[in-house]
Amino acid sequence: MKFLKSVLGILRNNKDAYDNGNSDSSGHTARTKSLPDLAAIVLKAPKGKTHLFATGQAGFIIKSTGGQLLAVDLYLSTGEKQFKGDNGFKRLLPVILQPDALHFDIVICTHPHFDHFDTGSVPVFLKNKTTKLLCSTDCKKLIRKLRMANNKEQIQYVMPGNRIVSGDFEISFVNCDHGAGAPDAVGVVVKVDGKTIYEAGDTCLRLDRISEIPQPLDVLIAPINGAYGNMNETECALLAEALHPKVTVPCHYGMFASHHGDVGLFYEIMKEKRLPLLIMQQGEQLIL
Ligand SMILES: [Zn+2]
Repeated sequence: MKFLKSVLGILRNNKDAYDNGNSDSSGHTARTKSLPDLAAIVLKAPKGKTHLFATGQAGFIIKSTGGQLLAVDLYLSTGEKQFKGDNGFKRLLPVILQPDALHFDIVICTHPHFDHFDTGSVPVFLKNKTTKLLCSTDCKKLIRKLRMANNKEQIQYVMPGNRIVSGDFEISFVNCDHGAGAPDAVGVVVKVDGKTIYEAGDTCLRLDRISEIPQPLDVLIAPINGAYGNMNETECALLAEALHPKVTVPCHYGMFASHHGDVGLFYEIMKEKRLPLLIMQQGEQLIL
């Protein structure tokens, strides 16, 4: 109940982060939207509570009650490298966090695709010499390309079945089926402060392997874009139905036209199935 209240209260709580109400001389209120400064929002989030923040695409940040930060699949580049004149790969969501603005305790990259292992950001995250990078084994090539192969203290390769306890976080890597394009991709289950958050990663629907996912779940985060081997809106709802988390947060839509993903359709499907969902704005904060 407390959790549901928290979900319901989010839009109200986050209003300040988005809106600047400016009254003109006629008394009309012009509402202009300013970009959320995610670093400021994360730093301001009080200790003593568990926070989840959405950064766009499949990127999420978890802040523990102790103030430790874990990031999954942050894509913070402007997208110029991908665009190359192809509108399908034009970055459509703004960059709301600079890679050097926060000190992460743990950074996870579920697979080496550019929107999950952001080559412009990962070396910056690790500059402080204490941040740990946990990435799928097929990220090795990128690590070599970035000349980080010798950094064995900060970088660890992971595969489904691995469990890592670090600081406030207990991280289990689980199966993920992203096809031949990223055969070693992983899903992530994070236990923190007694809460369980499952980030499915880029994956198709594998109900046959559902028993490998720890339950019960507080939050399920999963793609809905139905392209490049990912679940579509209907399949993500089927996963939510099978796992019955307290809330499902859709991701992997709105960033690139070529990636597809209709969050309106997902909303309709979840509503019809009477399954709890939270559609998170970029920069929005869920208090668990
Ligand atoms: Zn992706």
